[in-house]
Amino acid sequence: MSDLSLSTDVSLQAFNTFRIDARARRYLRVTDPDQLTQLAADPALAALPRLVLGGGSNLLLTRDVEALVLHMGLLGKAIVGQDEAVTLVRAQAGENWHGLVEWTLAQGLGGLENLALIPGTVGASPIQNIGAYGAEIKDVFHALTVFDFATGTTRTMTAADCRFGYRDSVFKHAEGRDLVVLDVTFALPRAWTPNLRYAELAQALEGSADPTPRQVGDAVIAIRRRKLPDPAEIGNAGSFFKNPVVSGAQCAQLLQAWPNLVHHRQPDGSEKLAAGWLIDQCGWKGKTLGRAGVYPKQALVLVNNGGASGAEVMALARAIQQDVRARFGVELEPEPVTV
Ligand SMILES: Cc1cc2nc3c(=O)[nH]c(=O)nc-3n(C[C@H](O)[C@H](O)[C@H](O)COP(=O)(O)OP(=O)(O)OC[C@H]3O[C@@H](n4cnc5c(N)ncnc54)[C@H](O)[C@@H]3O)c2cc1C
Repeated sequence: MSDLSLSTDVSLQAFNTFRIDARARRYLRVTDPDQLTQLAADPALAALPRLVLGGGSNLLLTRDVEALVLHMGLLGKAIVGQDEAVTLVRAQAGENWHGLVEWTLAQGLGGLENLALIPGTVGASPIQNIGAYGAEIKDVFHALTVFDFATGTTRTMTAADCRFGYRDSVFKHAEGRDLVVLDVTFALPRAWTPNLRYAELAQALEGSADPTPRQVGDAVIAIRRRKLPDPAEIGNAGSFFKNPVVSGAQCAQLLQAWPNLVHHRQPDGSEKLAAGWLIDQCGWKGKTLGRAGVYPKQALVLVNNGGASGAEVMALARAIQQDVRARFGVELEPEPVTV
């Protein structure tokens, strides 16, 4: 039997990158999938509301957590297969994401390098289909294993089952409510070519004729270190808003009033706007509201300037949403999960 002793009244401050001082009424460090099977088999425990916690880097805790916090600590990573096209790499949910990227690069395996230095765990990577520098995990996703609290069993899910979208998947919707990701398998291409679609990354590698996965990863790391605050130094959850997608017609109308509007045409004809640009135009870059603020180097990142509560961060987010709505008629949707 694995350990099912729940802790009570646990501070989550060290477990979320916004460094919000919220507490969990009940808390379990999950180091063995069997703990979940036992939880599901106990009617009283199975009935508790749950919050699955990885690295807490995409979470905004606005108050103490009444739910049972399942803090994913499943560890392990290995190459589990290979054919002429791909190498299959499987990692357990509690593995550090960037640690996995580094490990694949050390084995000479390309495919994850554009996603280097994203904080958090492997188990959370499919939840919002993490993406950066022209890549998303869905590009190299093979399959994952979930524990389903509705049935008390584990099963495999394919990419189609996961319904990946822009910062989205089935796990963010009602059908995913009972699912806990236990491990994820990635199919890394053996005939690797660099993905330099993102202009800043291409520029950074201009001098290297045939960049290796390691070189691309290093360039991504250097760019990210320049632009993004390190959560170890200043509390934040990365981009706080998704880039809004509007119709081609709305974009054309906006362009008449704002010729410098940053927009990217999508395959279906819609336009993705740069949320950071919209926020910057409203004058929010570097501004503070209470103890929360907008990062001076990147308007898309909200920060905890020290001792901010989740409610203060939310108040700042709402003020920004209101200004962007009033000026551009565009809705900004928060990216982190609000609890
Ligand atoms: C400085 C910084 C930069 C960032 N840059 C990027 C970026 O470039 N691209 C990007 O996409 N994101 C980025 N993020 C956001 C974040 O790193 C990712 O969303 C990451 O995948 C979150 O992982 P986590 O383990 O911290 O998840 P958590 O914050 O712990 O959880 C996030 C959500 O996933 C759920 N969850 C977590 N683990 C599991 C599991 N095993 N099973 C089921 N549900 C689970 C949680 O319940 C919650 O709903 C950034 C964050 C920071 C702080």
